[in-house]
Amino acid sequence: MATIPTLTLNDGRAIPQLGFGVYLVPPDDTAEVVRAALESGYRHIDTAEMYGNERGVGEALRSSGLARDEVFVTSKLNNAWHRPDDARRAFDATLDELGTDYVDLFLIHWPLPTLFDGDYVSTWKVLEEFQRDGRARSIGVSNFEIAHLERLAGETGTVPAVNQIEVHPYLTNDEVRTYGHEHGIVTEAWSPLAQGKALSDPVVTEIAARISRSPSQVVLRWHIERGDVVFPKTMSPARVRENADVFDFELEPRDRDRLSSLGQGEAGRIGPHPDTFDWIPD
Ligand code: NDP
Repeated sequence: MATIPTLTLNDGRAIPQLGFGVYLVPPDDTAEVVRAALESGYRHIDTAEMYGNERGVGEALRSSGLARDEVFVTSKLNNAWHRPDDARRAFDATLDELGTDYVDLFLIHWPLPTLFDGDYVSTWKVLEEFQRDGRARSIGVSNFEIAHLERLAGETGTVPAVNQIEVHPYLTNDEVRTYGHEHGIVTEAWSPLAQGKALSDPVVTEIAARISRSPSQVVLRWHIERGDVVFPKTMSPARVRENADVFDFELEPRDRDRLSSLGQGEAGRIGPHPDTFDWIPD
């Protein structure tokens, strides 16, 4: 596998542009699946308290033989814990579950503007504490719309290092991406394969057949060339390798444009809209 390039965050730290996501990876399988990803050369794992599998990620890290600083680990704050004291307890629990002293990146998972008096600003200031005490090397947000980012910019002193948002060929999310680009916020594209739906699209399969690559590689390459971070999820070791094998070819500009033109705006969104999402786990 070719070396995975890194991007530089606004705090000077480096993040591998391709990682492995573990949403919907069952907790009992997580250690094995993540170990397979690390053995294939992945050095970036994206988990969250709400995925219930941080412990398995930690097990894989310890049994991999890799030094802690060789792997970039992200986790995220559970929606239930936006109040500052809850966020502090939740972050302690995340480090316990992972069995590590620090995470490379910690995110507010959703802004939840209709809950907790819409006060994600206080929550963000608690993440600033975690960064100051060194237990979160970088801090960022997820599912933040432009209005949410502008509010943080107006009321706090730190700019999120990343914004992890839904992006794939059916939801190109370019307004939020452009805001991020203009303000030094790296975009992380979640569900980069549209949860597999993009892989049977005729435009994707035509390009894949013509350039002798898989549909997944074509879509992931499109993200990489747009400059976003991706972490596709798969339970299959063969697909783990296939998904990382995207650094030795380039798309023709015409093909890149055709993939971008698959965007359907809001109709292409798979997940909930961040302005209204208010789910709290039991
Ligand atoms: P993806 O877009 O990564 O798609 C995953 C699906 O694609 C699975 O069904 C997988 O099936 C299939 N797949 C993966 N690789 C291949 C391949 N090479 N060929 C064929 N099928 C393939 O969806 P996710 O929703 O999992 O998103 C990725 C990550 O983004 C998550 O794991 C999580 O880390 C993050 N995320 C963050 C969110 C947030 O709110 N911040 C929300 C959602 C996701 P199989 O497993 O059978 O191979």
